[in-house]
Amino acid sequence: MTISEDPPSPLWASLSRETFSAARLEGTYETDVAVVGAGISGLSTALHLARSGTNTLVIEAGEIGAGASGRNNGQVIPTLTRHDPNAVLKALGPDRGDRFLRLLEGSADLLFETATRYGIDCDAVRNGWIQPAHSEARARIAARRAEQWQARGVAAEVLGREEIATHLGSAAYYGGWRLPSGGHINPLAFTRGLARAAVGEGASVFAHSPVTSLSRNRTGWLVSTSTGSIRASKVVLATAAYSGSIWPELARSIVPVTSYQVATQPLGQLAETILPNDEACSDTRMDLRYFRKDRDSRLVSGGALALQAFAKHRVPRLVMRRLEEIFPQLKGVRADFFWGGRIAMTLDRLPRLHRSADGLISWIGCNGRGLALSMAMGSVVEDAVHGASDAELPLELTSPQAVPLSPLVNRIARLVLPYYRYRDRRELSG
Ligand SMILES: Cc1cc2nc3c(=O)[nH]c(=O)nc-3n(C[C@H](O)[C@H](O)[C@H](O)COP(=O)(O)OP(=O)(O)OC[C@H]3O[C@@H](n4cnc5c(N)ncnc54)[C@H](O)[C@@H]3O)c2cc1C
Repeated sequence: MTISEDPPSPLWASLSRETFSAARLEGTYETDVAVVGAGISGLSTALHLARSGTNTLVIEAGEIGAGASGRNNGQVIPTLTRHDPNAVLKALGPDRGDRFLRLLEGSADLLFETATRYGIDCDAVRNGWIQPAHSEARARIAARRAEQWQARGVAAEVLGREEIATHLGSAAYYGGWRLPSGGHINPLAFTRGLARAAVGEGASVFAHSPVTSLSRNRTGWLVSTSTGSIRASKVVLATAAYSGSIWPELARSIVPVTSYQVATQPLGQLAETILPNDEACSDTRMDLRYFRKDRDSRLVSGGALALQAFAKHRVPRLVMRRLEEIFPQLKGVRADFFWGGRIAMTLDRLPRLHRSADGLISWIGCNGRGLALSMAMGSVVEDAVHGASDAELPLELTSPQAVPLSPLVNRIARLVLPYYRYRDRRELSG
C-alpha cells in the first residue's frame, strides 16, 4: 500500500472549508475498539460506537480521507450499482434482503442528517439523483427499476425522454428515473467533518500512521505502527480497496479497481444549461458516464482505462470528449483537475460483512457506490462489534473468500472495459 501525502483530491481539498486534521500516533494507547482506516466507513463506525459510549480509536495511514472517501465524485445514491430490490431479495433472502434494503433506503437520509446535525460544511445539495438511460431498452429497465423501489414505498420517479432532457439539459438520453432522496457533497469535506464529529463524541483519531501489524493474545489485540501501538479488545478494518497485508484474506477478497476523476474549468453562465436543478447524475452504461456540478459550477466527471499508461493525459481527453457528446455546448471547455482513487469490487457486485476466526470485523465491497452505504454500514459494524447475532444483521457474517487467481485478476480486471464499451454501443444500435 502506498499512500500519497498529497491531498486526496486537489479539487475537493481546494473547496473544503472543513479543516480537521489529526496527529501521528506516538506511544502506547488502550481502547475498547481500534478502527483502522479513516474513510467514511471507519469514521461512521467510530461515530456510532462513540455515541453509544464505547471507547474508540481510529488510525489512518495517510491524511483523513486519503482513500476513496476523499477522492470520489461525491454523488449520494441510496442504491447498489447492479442489484435492484428484487435482485437483493433473491440474493440475500426475503428477511435479510428486506433488512438490507431498509438500511440502503435510509442511507442518504443518514448521511445528510449527519451533515446537518454536526454542522459539516460539505456543500451538501439534496436535489435528487438521476439515472438517464442510454438506449430504449435501458429506459424500459430504468422504469421497472423505479417501479420496484416505488413498490417498497420509496419516492422514485420514472422520467420520459422529454423530462430527462429537461432535467439534464441534454437530448442524449432515452428516458430514465430519479430518486429525490439523493444528491451530492464535497466528499473530502464531509469525511473531515465526520472525523471532527467522531472526536466531538469522544473518539480519538490519529493520521499519518500506517498500521504495520496486528497480533492477538489472550486479552485482546496489539495494533502496531512504526511510532506507536494500541491495545484494543476489538479491531475493525475499514480499509476497503486500500486493504493490505494486515488482513491478507480481506485484501484478496476484492478486486481493487482504479477510477479517475476530472473537473472542468468553472462553467460560468454555461452551467445554467447543464443540470439546471443541480442534481447528481450517473447513466445506465456498463462503462458508466456520470457527472455533477461543484460549488463553483465546474462539471465533475470521471472514467476508467483498460491500460493505465499516461492516464493523466488520456483520461481528461476521454472524459471531455464524452461530456461533449452529451453537452455539445462544452466544446472548447478546459479540464482543470485530475485525480484518481481505488474502488473495492466484489465478483457478484454485492457488499460483504466479514468476521475472522479470531474476531476482526470489516465490511467491504462498495462496488463504486459507497458514500451513503459506508455511512449506513457504520451502525451495522457497531452491532457486529457489540456481538449482534448473524441472524439480526442485514448482511451475513462471513469469512473473506479469496477471488480466484486474485493477483492475476487484480492486474487484468480493467481489460473487461473494452467489452463493456462494446456492449454499451451494441445496445445503442440494437
Ligand atoms: C474515483 C471514485 C469515484 C467514486 N464516486 C462515487 C460516488 O460518486 N458516489 C458513491 O456513492 N461512491 C463513489 N465512490 C465509492 C466511494 O468513494 C467509496 O465507497 C467510499 O469512499 C468507501 O469509503 P471507505 O471508508 O470504506 O474506504 P476508503 O475511503 O478507501 O478508506 C480506507 C482507508 O483505509 C486506510 N488504510 C488502508 N490500510 C491502512 C493501514 N494499514 N493503516 C491505516 N490505515 C489504512 C486508507 O489510507 C484509507 O484512507 C467512488 C470511488 C472512487 C475511487
